[in-house]
Amino acid sequence: MRIAMVSEHASPLAALGGVDAGGQNVHVAALSTELARRGHEVRVYTRRDDPDAPERVPLATGVEVVHVTAGPARHVPKDDMLPAMPALAAGMAADWSGWEPDIVHSHFWMSGVAALDAVSTLAAPPPVVHTFHALGVVKRRHQGAADTSPAEREWLEPDVGRRAAGVIATCSDEAFELKKLGVPSRNITVIPCGVDLAHFTPQGPRDERTRRHRVLSVGRLVPRKGVGTAIEAVAALADEGLDVELVIVGGGDTSDGRDPELERLAEIARHSAAPDRIELRGQLPQAVLPELYRSADVVVCAPWYEPFGIVPLEAMACGVPVVASSVGGLIDSVVDGVTGRHVPPRDATAVAEAIRTLLLDEPTRRQYGANGRRRAARYAWSRIAADSERSYRATIAAVSGAPSMNRRAKGVAR
Ligand code: UDP
Repeated sequence: MRIAMVSEHASPLAALGGVDAGGQNVHVAALSTELARRGHEVRVYTRRDDPDAPERVPLATGVEVVHVTAGPARHVPKDDMLPAMPALAAGMAADWSGWEPDIVHSHFWMSGVAALDAVSTLAAPPPVVHTFHALGVVKRRHQGAADTSPAEREWLEPDVGRRAAGVIATCSDEAFELKKLGVPSRNITVIPCGVDLAHFTPQGPRDERTRRHRVLSVGRLVPRKGVGTAIEAVAALADEGLDVELVIVGGGDTSDGRDPELERLAEIARHSAAPDRIELRGQLPQAVLPELYRSADVVVCAPWYEPFGIVPLEAMACGVPVVASSVGGLIDSVVDGVTGRHVPPRDATAVAEAIRTLLLDEPTRRQYGANGRRRAARYAWSRIAADSERSYRATIAAVSGAPSMNRRAKGVAR
């Protein structure tokens, strides 16, 4: 198949762990690479954010990243990117005059807008399958006035869900939200994000601890990730006498030369009961993350909400138990009492209690870690790609009627 991936803000080539570069970038890069390994031809369309970037960059055998000029050729916060979508759509449609995709898979609501726009200009439009990665309705519920999404998201996002030929939800919680938005159930398939099981492994080098116990937090530094809750929890445990440290990996928005969220968290740490036990390491490349995961007794993920959350999968793949808010994708991925502990969101006391229990019980930690590694196997990117391919084929067959009788379906066999 010829597969067009659309990922307007999240380039698979971007450095990870900054404010707008996280799970979606990982997802698009890994899924595209695995689909190409399965014999498909993949082009990933993303907005050009650097004037010097080549138009086409090979990502892996069979995968090419196409930088489309749409809006200024520099970093633009994703919430300011909507006006660039018509140009992104036009750029993709132009590319498709010489390379007709069999399916278009768009990621994040704005890519969906651009993808649907682009295919509508073609004589034989390929179906669009969409993954939201995050939903505005959920974001608004939790962030209220702090949500900087453009107003248009409120109606354009559900419109993408209703118009796409298929919607891939990454967890069951998202599937429920999509139904509430009016996306027909028959169009929704749940396919989770994956994890690189060859990179994230229990065996290998470990970062050195400075305390008996280490708790780790990994992720983009945005308030909703609940890193402040993790700081409060670990500081309380240190204050009650546990020899524990918290290492925090990830960065925030540095567009104006500062990182306000990093500063806010440093301030929480400074005013906590144990400032010397909290270490903010900043943004780190994925290459070094396994050493960090392996160095931890527990990984804490305490978001207010979480559309999916690849970090817990990485922790589990490294054999480390996870203390996770029981929200969104974490409800599916982390099994309470098997691979970690579920806690309510925004509850530092519950997080501290769950971490304490695990730190004081090494056999259970080991058991949860081993269970986590086993569970992570079901999230191998090879499986996610196989499921995605099946979903593409089903969508193509559904929109084309009789699969073996028409042009689109023949395209599938390409
Ligand atoms: N990440 C990274 N370096 C950092 C922080 C995060 O490479 O400094 C990676 C992390 O390993 C994970 C991704 O960014 O693969 C975050 O994905 P997740 O789905 O957990 O969160 P999202 O960014 O989608 O909210």
